[in-house]
Amino acid sequence: MSISIQFRDWIENTPAPWKIGQVLIAPEPGGVKRFELRHVDDRHAETDSLRPVDDWIGLRELIRVNAAGEFRPLKAAPDLRSGWRMTGLDFDNLRLALDYFYPGAVADWICWRNGNLPVTSYAETAKRQSGRYHIARSLGEGDLEKLTQTVCERGCLKRRLWTAIPNSDAVEGSSSEIPLLCAEACNYFVGKAREKIKGPAVEE
Ligand code: SF4
Repeated sequence: MSISIQFRDWIENTPAPWKIGQVLIAPEPGGVKRFELRHVDDRHAETDSLRPVDDWIGLRELIRVNAAGEFRPLKAAPDLRSGWRMTGLDFDNLRLALDYFYPGAVADWICWRNGNLPVTSYAETAKRQSGRYHIARSLGEGDLEKLTQTVCERGCLKRRLWTAIPNSDAVEGSSSEIPLLCAEACNYFVGKAREKIKGPAVEE
């Protein structure tokens, strides 16, 4: 069964509203299968008080920067802006929108449920790095653990699966939540590993 069909099946058989990261998914009234997205902090906000996000360009802009206007290098960081809503999404567009917010997260979660999400150790990820990131493989155990605390625990909503001591949350939250899973150190983390070893990058 495809990822899309399994996702649709889960939506149809799980009590609404649903949640993924900082995004709340709710069915629109009227019996037609259409969905609304909004920030979890806006769960009780009056609909009219929320700014409509009408298209994919608007969505890209929403997720690009935080409330202070700063670029968000990590899409799973807990700094998604609030005060918006996106409506009229059918299943396909719902899936697409969620991939804008959290790339690959729905597919990872479905694979994890099916028992076939590959998990890659940091050593393996570091071994694949080349060029200026080659040095990431020399990060020691102690520094790796410290980095997961500062970068992952404090700055990311994903639940890490790839460290010897994963973060303590159970993978499944509430039954209506799609957990954000991290099966492999991301590029952002590898960049931070490089910085820890070499110091911050200097503009050339
Ligand atoms: S390595 Fe995973 S948990 Fe850590 S910051 Fe990257 S995506 Fe988040």
